[in-house]
Amino acid sequence: MKKVEEWKFERERMVQEQIIARGVKDERVLEAMREVPRHLFVEKTYYHQVYNDYPLPVGHGQTISQPYMVAVMTELLELKGDENVLEIGTGSGYQTAVLALLCSKVYTMERIAELTKDARSRLEKLGFRNISFMVGDGSIGWPDYAPYKGIIVTAGAPDIPNALIEQLDENGRLVIPVGHEHCQVLNVVKKHKGRIYRKEIFECTFVPLLGKQGWKH
Ligand code: SAM
Repeated sequence: MKKVEEWKFERERMVQEQIIARGVKDERVLEAMREVPRHLFVEKTYYHQVYNDYPLPVGHGQTISQPYMVAVMTELLELKGDENVLEIGTGSGYQTAVLALLCSKVYTMERIAELTKDARSRLEKLGFRNISFMVGDGSIGWPDYAPYKGIIVTAGAPDIPNALIEQLDENGRLVIPVGHEHCQVLNVVKKHKGRIYRKEIFECTFVPLLGKQGWKH
């Protein structure tokens, strides 16, 4: 088993070689990526690859996202610290932890109850107290706490769900992969004076967003 210092060293290498090298600049995001112990979000059998430049399985056919993808999607939210953020696709809870260090409150939704249970237990053990969990269809959002300053969807959608646009606050940002089932484009949607502005960032590949306003199978 590696010592804390050795894991820290691996994370620093991940941040330098995979994240800073590809242009992520937000110091708060870089610091959060240094801080969250990614290895604690996967099975021990994956420990030796967990700081490598790719996603890994977390069970139930789902994945923990590639570190760079987590960093770049988080940077696109432009968090300053006092926002409420809705995350769709809790998965392992790794992205949730990064968000929870950077905003005041995270509302995270996952359709697979077992993943929520494991993620909640990990995040509680790590001491996070600003996260609310919900098992359900995130393609229709979580209206109870809307509007959100940030919404992040970590699964690929066929189109931008209207429910999420509705639940986005004025000057809020929604980051979401949109496109085909096996290949999407990362989109950032901004709401300003009630109008919607959409920007495409780059191609990416996520597991599908399944649900009423996602893929229906
Ligand atoms: N962010 C996660 C992490 O850091 O481990 C990775 C998320 S994984 C790429 C995508 C997740 O979205 C899966 O766990 C999947 O079950 C979930 N998902 C798919 N459709 C969903 C929906 N409609 N509502 C909530 N979660 C959904």
